[in-house]
Amino acid sequence: MKFFSLLLLFFIFGCSKNEDVRSGNFSLSPYESTQNYFKTSKRLVLDVIYESGNAPYTDTAIQQNPLWQLTEENLVAMYLGRSVLPEIVVPKKIEEMREISVQNKTSWTVDDILALAQAHRRGQSSETESHFVILFVKGYFNDGSRDLATTVGVSLGGTTIVAIFKDVVKSTESLSNPLVSRYVEQATIIHELGHALGLVDNGLPMKEAHKDANHGPHCDNPNCVMYWLNEGKEDVREFMRRFILSGSVIMFDDKCLRDSREY
Ligand SMILES: [Zn+2]
Ligand SMILES: [Zn+2]
Repeated sequence: MKFFSLLLLFFIFGCSKNEDVRSGNFSLSPYESTQNYFKTSKRLVLDVIYESGNAPYTDTAIQQNPLWQLTEENLVAMYLGRSVLPEIVVPKKIEEMREISVQNKTSWTVDDILALAQAHRRGQSSETESHFVILFVKGYFNDGSRDLATTVGVSLGGTTIVAIFKDVVKSTESLSNPLVSRYVEQATIIHELGHALGLVDNGLPMKEAHKDANHGPHCDNPNCVMYWLNEGKEDVREFMRRFILSGSVIMFDDKCLRDSREY
């Protein structure tokens, strides 16, 4: 495995800028690119790892289907119509995810997240298998200067690593509708995987213009999961309220889907 410097981009709530954080020496697979995910991969695997006490929701079914089927169906939707549909492996039950010990941290920088992923991931991406890591941690994302209390998730640019901040997800819990926080969590996973896979114009070129000029690789449609505000908890909560009412399961709009399907 060769070591190489990686200029990291990350996406945060209100990411009007993609900040170049720093370059660090981490051993990452050279097969972490949109090209591989869409043109050579035969299998796309999600490796879900959670800090003790910060497990993803797996308790509630939606329309008789497991909650994580939302993530699976949205990933499948990105590939529909392509000549090769990779096998998409999404864990649905908590026993299919992995618990790690309490990390005693309340604040996570990009380097902290990378280090945690590298310590616990089981498998790297190869030419034919794309291996994504989704970390559920306690505490908040730190952008290098402060903790961001409303950032639900981040995707580390150019990597297969996504982090979800469970304290922020939990803060969207509502007694009157337990589905909302569960959908917020699923939508954030889908949004961050959308970034990691190359949406919007971040590896997947646009067939039709739909990039939000002021907010980096985000879609300009407020009803698409890739809209920029959908990483912040208030907006994603509102998005989910509308979405639940719609009865739909696919959170990407047609322009985002077209970019991945026709890539
Ligand atoms: Zn985003
Ligand atoms: Zn979109």
